[in-house]
Formats: sequence, C-alpha cells, structure tokens
Amino acid sequence: MKVKNAEIVISAVKPAQYPVGHLPEIALAGRSNVGKSSFINKMLNRKNLARTSSKPGKTQTLNFYNIDDILHFVDVPGYGYARVSKTERAAWGKMIETYLTNREQLKAVVLIVDVRHKPTQDDIMMYDFLKHFGLSVIIIATKADKIPKGKWQKHLKIVKETLELEEGDEMILFSSETAQGKDTAWNAIKSFL
Ligand code: GDP
Repeated sequence: MKVKNAEIVISAVKPAQYPVGHLPEIALAGRSNVGKSSFINKMLNRKNLARTSSKPGKTQTLNFYNIDDILHFVDVPGYGYARVSKTERAAWGKMIETYLTNREQLKAVVLIVDVRHKPTQDDIMMYDFLKHFGLSVIIIATKADKIPKGKWQKHLKIVKETLELEEGDEMILFSSETAQGKDTAWNAIKSFL
C-alpha cells in the first residue's frame, strides 16, 4: 500500500473521544522501546509522526492516525515500563481494556516484539489477553537487521513457541531500518479491512 496522507486525528483517553465514523481500525501494541513508533513511521513513510510516549509521567493516550481515509492506526501506549507506578499501570490497563474489548471498528491488533529476544512475560500476557477477547493478531518481529540472516528462523521459532501462537495468527519478520517485511505487513493488515 502506498500511503499518501497520514495524520493524527486525536489522542484519546476515553471512548467519548474516539473518532466517530466507520473507518476500520488496526491497533498497535508492544512493550516500551520495542520499536513500535519506528514501525508505525516506516509503514506510513513518515520520519516522526509517531513518537515514543511511553515514558512515565507522560500522558498515556490512544493515538488515532487517519491513513488516506481508508483506516485508522491506533497506537496503544507501550507496556512493561518498569518505573511506572501501580496506579498508572491500572489506569493504562483500564483504558486499553475498554478500547480493545468494546470497539466495533477494531479489526485486528498488530503486536510488536523484538525478534532478538524471547518474548517477555508482558508480551505473553498481552498476546493471551488479545486472544481471550477473540481478537485477530498479527505478530511483527522487528529489529531483524540486528541479527544475522542465518539466525532469523531460529529466533522466529522461539517467538512462535514462547507466545504459543495460534493457528492463523501471522508472524512477520520486520526491520524499520531496511523496510524488510513492509509489504507483507501491509498485505496482512489489508486482509482485515
Ligand atoms: P517504541 O518505544 O516501541 O515506540 O520504540 P521506538 O520506535 O522509539 O524504538 C526504540 C529504539 O529502537 C530506537 O532507538 C529505534 O531507533 C530502535 N529501533 C526500532 N526499530 C528498529 C529496527 O527495526 N532496527 C534497528 N536497528 N533499530 C530499531
């Protein structure tokens, strides 16, 4: 897909602020620092549209991006940031649960993991949570450029086995540095629209 126009519509914290209308939505989730903003920017051909907003103290919002009036990307704040307080964590959980479980426009969730490392407990929890609510998941295993090609398959296998990936959930090797996997990722996303 060749994106012409991508712009932020709103940073929402509650349903009343979600955009109205019927554009299909693809949510993007991942551990803080995993490369989610880089993924979004690469997919949208933008340098700096999505920024890391997962640092403690910053407002945790769901950021809706309108892409060519065809779909919304919904950037979910990163999880697993160690220094977040219990109260902040609870607020985050409530906000994303409200969105992920009640949003009719939501078609699939892109879960971003780091292909170099075995998925964390937080990654597993997020995947299980998404499956529990019957959501379709696309796994993006990013930072492929950081490991040699000869090790890709071994790492992908570890990701797949650790998450206990369900039949039908696609896993795509990706790199925001080289754009590897970009077309495959767009095709996977388009199949849900
Ligand atoms: P976020 O917190 O999940 O939004 O993570 P960012 O997109 O801000 O990325 C965190 C760090 O990882 C930054 O320094 C990025 O430059 C780097 N990064 C993200 N994706 C890739 C990738 O595919 N390859 C490489 N080499 N670095 C990446």
